[in-house]
Amino acid sequence: MNSNEIDIHKELKKYFGFSQFKGLQENVIKSIVGKNNTFVIMPTGGGKSLCYQLPALIQDGTAIVVSPLIALMKNQVDAIRSLSSENGIAHVLNSSLTKTEINQVKKDITSGITKLLYVAPESLTKEEYVQFLKSVPISFVAIDEAHCISEWGHDFRPEYRNLRTIIKHLGDVPVIGLTATATPKVQEDILKNLDMSDAKTFKASFNRPNLFYEVRTKTKNIESDIIRFIKQNKGKSGIIYCLSRKKVEDIAEVLQVNGISAVPYHAGLDAKTRAKHQDMFLMEDVDVVVATIAFGMGIDKPDVRFVIHHDIPKSLESYYQETGRAGRDGGEGHCLAYYSYKDVEKLEKFMSGKPVAEQEIGFALLQEVVAYAETSMSRRKFLLHYFGEEFDSETGEGADMDDNVRNPKVKVEAMDNVKKLLEVVRDTKHLYKSKEIVFTLIGRVNATIKAHRTDAQSFFGCGSDQEERYWMALIRQVLVEGYLKKDIETYGILKVSPKGLDFIKNPVSFMMSEDHEYNEAEDDAIVTAAKSSGTADELLMGMLRDLRKKVAKKLGVPPFVV
Ligand code: ADP
Ligand code: MG
Repeated sequence: MNSNEIDIHKELKKYFGFSQFKGLQENVIKSIVGKNNTFVIMPTGGGKSLCYQLPALIQDGTAIVVSPLIALMKNQVDAIRSLSSENGIAHVLNSSLTKTEINQVKKDITSGITKLLYVAPESLTKEEYVQFLKSVPISFVAIDEAHCISEWGHDFRPEYRNLRTIIKHLGDVPVIGLTATATPKVQEDILKNLDMSDAKTFKASFNRPNLFYEVRTKTKNIESDIIRFIKQNKGKSGIIYCLSRKKVEDIAEVLQVNGISAVPYHAGLDAKTRAKHQDMFLMEDVDVVVATIAFGMGIDKPDVRFVIHHDIPKSLESYYQETGRAGRDGGEGHCLAYYSYKDVEKLEKFMSGKPVAEQEIGFALLQEVVAYAETSMSRRKFLLHYFGEEFDSETGEGADMDDNVRNPKVKVEAMDNVKKLLEVVRDTKHLYKSKEIVFTLIGRVNATIKAHRTDAQSFFGCGSDQEERYWMALIRQVLVEGYLKKDIETYGILKVSPKGLDFIKNPVSFMMSEDHEYNEAEDDAIVTAAKSSGTADELLMGMLRDLRKKVAKKLGVPPFVV
């Protein structure tokens, strides 16, 4: 078939029953049909699958689709098969197939029936498969969830690293990378690793105007706070993410005891229970799922109304993915995160057991979460900036949909200090990360500064009238405004942008938001007050919980089953 003659609108209707393409789909499909290496960055739910499914269906040969999860592949294969009378139109190739099944797959591919072949990255490394795939016509290779290639992504899979070498064995076939990960660092990694700097890139906006972002300080009252929140949103669907399985169980139980229909979900539950709880949530038999991050990939419930983070996530990327499960139908979606610096320290401690390189990445990612949680600027602007996207916090879509914009914090003029900061970054010759810049400003020495001190001699201590915290906050805000940039190669090294150099020449007013101060004493005071004034309900709840546990233990059943 000559690709120029294909009416892709007609094919869209024929195969999928849709009358219009969504977002950038049409351009992406044209790029793929035109045999270009193509890079697609679209938020979850943006419609990435169709971008490769349609071209695969309408072109000669078989398209190979690499995907990280067997469950996701199976879903897609079922969906594609339902579009056609030919079962062999889509297949999964994986290690669980019998010899007979493998032969059937090979037969269907050879005879040209199979348009889509889903493979896990580890199957693609099998010599036998590679030899076979070399001998049949391949239309293109699509790599779904391509961020798995990057250690900076939220789901690194080492096997993804070998893909390029294998694809090269298949000859000169176009490669399509698709991801919902929008950070510039991950994108760069993907292009580099797949060796496709020539790829036509299509990036959709990551703004989700219907999501409301809120961060609350985490105190020991968190459980009653969550219960109150859910009761105010009675009957609505929601997900609560916790870091540990134990916390998942605890919170699910607390909710149940308080008359909220909730089920736990984590990898420690057996497959049957997990499937059951997931179904209960999808079928609206329960309102709330309390889960670890094991829950969610590939979940497509359109009317999730809130996503609560009981613990802070490991990166802003994960945060964005997890909150992205709210409001997929375009309706309201409340994203509430609880933040305490103690959680950060816990995560850091946990990471300190890992290899150094991994630790560095982990700390850097975590630092961005801290900055997000502490910021008093528009959270939407902050998030989108992280994804390399400009957002006008006054006129942009969804501009007033966060706590900081609705209840602005005090702002102070920081023009002179921004100038000072930019000059220090410029004159230290871009050697330093935020920490060393701040140390230079306040006049503190560490090993890195000792090594380069002559570069910063004249500036040393020039900002000592402000505290470390102040400068850290200022750097974060100046970064978001684009006067400073972080180097991508050597992650974290600060550079003055051209816009920043202009600022040094012609300073303009810079209203700095006073960042939320984490005040431990105050936090503890709240907790103590809560303890001493525990309501009868709360006391009763605690007693009930203990009793329930005892009874359950006696009966040998889990405490959360009613
Ligand atoms: P992603 O992989 O980007 O997260 P999916 O490919 O799973 O997104 O698609 C999300 C949803 O959008 C699916 O339910 C899909 O059927 C739907 N969809 C995709 N393209 C279209 C379209 N052109 N018109 C209407 N719905 C679409
Ligand atoms: Mg997808």
